[in-house]
Amino acid sequence: MIIILAPSATESDLEELVNNLKERGYGVHISKGVEKTIVGAIGAPEEDKAIIAEQLSSFSYVERVIPILKPYKIVGREFHPDKSIIRVGDVDIGGQRVVVMAGPCSVESEEQTIETAKAVKAAGASILRGGAFKPSTSPYSFHGLGEDALKILAAARDITGLPVITEVMDTRDVELVAKYADILQIGTRNMTNFALLTELGNIKKPVMLKRGMSSTIEEWLQAAEYIATKGNYEIILCERGIRTFETFTRNTFDVSAIPAVGGLSHLPIAADPSHGTGKSSLVPPVARAAVAAGADALIVEVHPTPEKALKDGAQSLNFAAFENMMSELALCARAVGRYI
Ligand code: PEP
Ligand code: MN
Repeated sequence: MIIILAPSATESDLEELVNNLKERGYGVHISKGVEKTIVGAIGAPEEDKAIIAEQLSSFSYVERVIPILKPYKIVGREFHPDKSIIRVGDVDIGGQRVVVMAGPCSVESEEQTIETAKAVKAAGASILRGGAFKPSTSPYSFHGLGEDALKILAAARDITGLPVITEVMDTRDVELVAKYADILQIGTRNMTNFALLTELGNIKKPVMLKRGMSSTIEEWLQAAEYIATKGNYEIILCERGIRTFETFTRNTFDVSAIPAVGGLSHLPIAADPSHGTGKSSLVPPVARAAVAAGADALIVEVHPTPEKALKDGAQSLNFAAFENMMSELALCARAVGRYI
C-alpha cells in the first residue's frame, strides 16, 4: 500500500511513520515528489491490509492510505507521480532532452571503440554504448572481450568524456562491470534472471533493463520492481522489440510500449531501434517514431565499418548514417516539445 502524507507533515512525522511500518515488518520506500511525500509499504500479509490501513489513517499527518493492486508497486506512477530523472555524469535521462546512447554492438578493439566514441559524440550522442560481455543465441559466435573491453570503454570515456553503458550477464561479474561502467545494462535474455536483478538492486549505479523478447509490459515492470525493491531506484526501461510471427525484421519494435509504460511507470524509457529492427535502413525511421511516441532516450549501434563488424553489422549505422539520423531526430524532437 502507499501512504500519502499531508502537506503539513514534518520530517519527524515521517520518521515516526517509517518506524511504525518497520515494526510491523514492512519494507519501506519513500518518494519525495514535487507536491507530495509518499511512503510505500511493501510486504503486508493480505488479510491485515484493511485493518492496518485504518490504523495508519488515524495519524493526523496521513492524508490517505491506498492499496496498490498492481503487481508492481515502487516503479508505478501511484508511488511516484512525477517522472523520475536519472543523472549519469552530467546527463539527465527522463528530462526534456532526448538522450542518445550510441556505439558499437561489441567492443572489438581500442581503435574501433575510440574512433566510434569520437564520431558519435561529434554527432550529438551523450553516452557511449559497447558490449564487453556479449549474450549470444549461438554458442559459436563472438562473446566479447570481457574485462579488456571494459578497460577500452573506460579509456574512451577518459578521452571523450562520454559516460559508458555496457551489459552485465552474470551475477559473478556485477562488481567488475560496476567498477568500469556508468550504467549497467540487463539484456533481453536476462530480463527474468531474478538473481541478476536482485544483485543489481544492491548496487549504487543506474541500470538499464531491456524488455524480454517474449515479455509483456506487466512482466517487464515486475522485473524492474525486483531491482527497485532492493533499494536501487535508478532504472531505465528499454523497449528493444519483441518476438512476433514477422520474420522480415529481427524483432517487432513495439512503439506503443513507450507511451504505455510512460503512463504506468515513472521510470524513464529508452528505445533500441537497432535490435528492434535488425536492419540499418529501418533504424532511423523507427528512432523517429520512438521519439515521437515519447522515448526519453535511444540506444543505437554504430560501427566504423558495419560490413566488417564482428556482431550485428546488419543493424549498425556507419558514421555518416548516424550523423544524418541525428539531424532528422532533432526536428522530430522539436515537434514533440523536446530536444536532442
Ligand atoms: C545489445 O544491446 O547489444 C544486446 C545484446 O541487446 P538485446 O539484449 O536487446 O538483444
Ligand atoms: Mn547488438
